[in-house]
Amino acid sequence: MSAITLDEARALDKRDVLAPWREAFILPQGVIYLDGNSLGPLPRTTPARLAQVVEREWGCGLIRSWTDAGWLEAQTRIGGKIARLLGAAPEEVVVADSTSINLFKLMVAGARLRPGRRTILIEAGDFPTDRHMAEAAARVLPGGRVAAVAREALVDAIDADTALVVLCHVHYRSGARHGMAAMNAAAHAAGALVLWDLSHSAGAVGLDLSACGADLAVGCGYKFLNGGPGAPAFVYVAAQWHGAIETPLPGWFGHRAPFDFAAAYEGAEGVARFACGTAPVLGLAALESGVDLWLGVDTGAVFAKSAALFAFFAEMAADRCPDLALITPVQAGARGSHISFAHPQASSIMADLVARGIIGDFRPPDILRFGLTPLYLGFEEVWRAVSGLADACEASARNGANHLA
Ligand SMILES: *Cc1c(COP(=O)(O)O)cnc(C)c1O
Repeated sequence: MSAITLDEARALDKRDVLAPWREAFILPQGVIYLDGNSLGPLPRTTPARLAQVVEREWGCGLIRSWTDAGWLEAQTRIGGKIARLLGAAPEEVVVADSTSINLFKLMVAGARLRPGRRTILIEAGDFPTDRHMAEAAARVLPGGRVAAVAREALVDAIDADTALVVLCHVHYRSGARHGMAAMNAAAHAAGALVLWDLSHSAGAVGLDLSACGADLAVGCGYKFLNGGPGAPAFVYVAAQWHGAIETPLPGWFGHRAPFDFAAAYEGAEGVARFACGTAPVLGLAALESGVDLWLGVDTGAVFAKSAALFAFFAEMAADRCPDLALITPVQAGARGSHISFAHPQASSIMADLVARGIIGDFRPPDILRFGLTPLYLGFEEVWRAVSGLADACEASARNGANHLA
């Protein structure tokens, strides 16, 4: 295999139809950012939008802004925009709380749609908060229990006691992606529902929740959607469940008419009842500015470039970093938009890379993870990142040899 040259990388950037989108973000000089899957960067429109909300809507409008500035509708309005990226109807998505809290709400609500069944089935080794929340949900369900099984054993583990299968669609470490339609079908055949965590999927891969027969989903606002640190998360409930589903955290902002101040709880229509407390207006404003940016993007081009960036990274790393073991599936349909490698010295290699201005993630015990975010990442940057990675791996090998000597 011949090495990919810097000129070849530059030629790919010249032909990249998404290249102009980089200008839509504020990125620091001297940094190659391969962590947009963990915290998306700042959209250029966001500072002015936040200043407007703070100075005009809050500062001048004061409490009148709940109606005059559209604060009251923000959670369903932004949910409706995110729905387009999920392949869902606008009335099926609301923005509220964090992913963790939304997981808890939908786990309890989903399991209660299957009374008499006690098991929440999860994948062993999935994101920790998903498991912690599943265990907490099981504690409030009669006889509730969590079963954690390996990916290969999941389908066979769905049985007559399974109320809910809870899965991260794209795995946060390996990047491996579940076949959503097939998993939904397998669960439905056994009488169970599925709750998808789309934290590493929304804005990363093409989604069509409606066509896949998805029941329930949650996901993050601050990763690929660029909503800012701690941005509110989203909740998806398929329309077919709107008549039956109830939230276990019926806060007043999910009430049909919060400003009637009625003593009796009456949930809002459909997914809107999954809002809980007062809308986090400042966080919603930053999130909306990130989501609005996405509405102008050709997502087909994004997902095609994600595949091209992955192939470029994988080929160059195979050539220049022979000590790294690729753990992400190579087939585009079987993964998300990050690439991960195992290496026993992953922690020190990543520290070295960050010192070189190349920002990725270390995930214990031995994973190097790099987000491939086509809106603001180019091929030349990936070329430079893999060159730096090769140097860091060589430095690590030299240090190891010195320690042995
Ligand atoms: C990032 C991430 C979360 C984050 O949850 P928060 O409540 O927003 O902190 C949850 N699940 C998965 C799979 C994630 O990748």
